[in-house]
Amino acid sequence: MGIFGEYYVNMMNEKIFVTRSSMPPYEEYIEAVKPLWDSRLLTNMGKYHAELEQELKEYLDVPELSLMVNGHMALELTIQAMGFPEGAEVITTPFTFISTTHAIVRNDLKPVFCDVKPEDGTIDEAKIEDLITEHTVAIVPVHVYGNVCNVEEIQRIADKYSLKVIYDAAHAFGVTYKGKGIGNWGDASVFSFHATKVFNTIEGGAAVFGDHRLYEKLYNLKNFGIRGEELVTEVGANAKMNEFCAVMGLCNLKYMGRAIEQRKVLCEEYEKRLSCISGIRLFKTKLEMSRNYGYLPILVEDNYFLNRNELYEELKKQGIYARKYFYPLTSDQACFKNKYRDADLKCARELAEKVLVLPVYEELHKGRVENICEMIEKIV
Ligand SMILES: *Cc1c(COP(=O)(O)O)cnc(C)c1O
Repeated sequence: MGIFGEYYVNMMNEKIFVTRSSMPPYEEYIEAVKPLWDSRLLTNMGKYHAELEQELKEYLDVPELSLMVNGHMALELTIQAMGFPEGAEVITTPFTFISTTHAIVRNDLKPVFCDVKPEDGTIDEAKIEDLITEHTVAIVPVHVYGNVCNVEEIQRIADKYSLKVIYDAAHAFGVTYKGKGIGNWGDASVFSFHATKVFNTIEGGAAVFGDHRLYEKLYNLKNFGIRGEELVTEVGANAKMNEFCAVMGLCNLKYMGRAIEQRKVLCEEYEKRLSCISGIRLFKTKLEMSRNYGYLPILVEDNYFLNRNELYEELKKQGIYARKYFYPLTSDQACFKNKYRDADLKCARELAEKVLVLPVYEELHKGRVENICEMIEKIV
C-alpha cells in the first residue's frame, strides 16, 4: 500500500504522468490540414513550413530560424554547420538529456564536461575557463528546465578565447531574459518541439541565430544539399519538418499563452506548498527572466524523511509517475563506458541523485497538485 496509505490510487484509480502532450481542438487541426488533400504537397519546405518559420521567429523574438524534423537534429546540424575540426573539444554539461552529448559526439567532437551550479542546475560559468585548452572550439550550455544560464559571463569567456556558443534551449521555449527572447544569446540556440515539450509539433525543433549565412548552411544540411533540379552543392542529411507537423505547430502556437498561464497556476501552487517543507528544495530562477513553467523539478535533500528514490517509488504506488530528470548524468551513461568518470562533476552528481520532476501539464487538475503536495508534506 505504501507509506501514503490508501491516499490516492484507491480513491481515483487514475495514473498521472509527468507530462501530457498539448493538442489543439480536433476539428481545428482537421480543418487546417484539409488543403493538403488537394495540394498533395506533404513536405519539402511547403506553405505551412514557411508560415510556421515566420510565426515562430516572431514568437521567439529572433532574427533567423530554421525548422527541423526534431530538436536533436537541429542541435547536431547546427554544430556541424560551424565546421569545427575533427576531435576538437566542446565544453558542455552532463546534467541534461542525452541528446546534448550525442550531438557533440556524433560530430566527432570531444565533450569536455563542466560542473553545474546547485541553485539552478545550469553550467557553472566559474569553472569553464579551467577547462579551456588549445583544442577548445565551443561551449554548449543547456537552459535546463528553462532556467537561464549566465549568458553574459559565458559570452565574455567565449569572446576572450574566440569560442562559439550554441545553447541547447530545448526546455526554454518562449522564455525571455532582460526582455529579449532567450534565443538571442550565443551564436545559435536550439529548441525542441517534441510531443512532451511545452510547445509541440508532434516531433520537431528549430535552430535560431542571427547570421543569415547559417540559414543557408542549415538549409543544405537538412535537405541533402539540393539547390536545384540537377544541382547538389553539399553532402547534407535529411532533417526537414513535414507539413502535418508544421500545421500542428501553427494550431498549438495559438494556445501557447493560455497553456503557459495554466502551467503557471500549477507551478505556483507546488512552489507555495513545497517551499515550506524541510528537506525539499526548489531551484532558483533569475529575476530578469520570464518562465514557461515547463517543468517542476524538486530536490530531495538529506534531511527529508525519504531519499529521492524512495519518494519516487512511494509516489508511483499512488499512481503519480514523477521522473528522475536527469539521472544518470549523460557522462555516466553506459554508451560512454566510464570514459568520463574522472571529470570533476561533484555538484552535477549530487543533483542527479536528488532531483525529481513532478507532473505539470495544462489540464492537470489543481486538486491533483494539492494531493501530490499533501502526500509529500504528510510524511514530514
Ligand atoms: C528534448 C530534448 C532534446 C532533443 O529534442 P528532440 O526534439 O526530442 O530531438 C535535446 N536536449 C534537451 C535538453 C531535451 O530535453
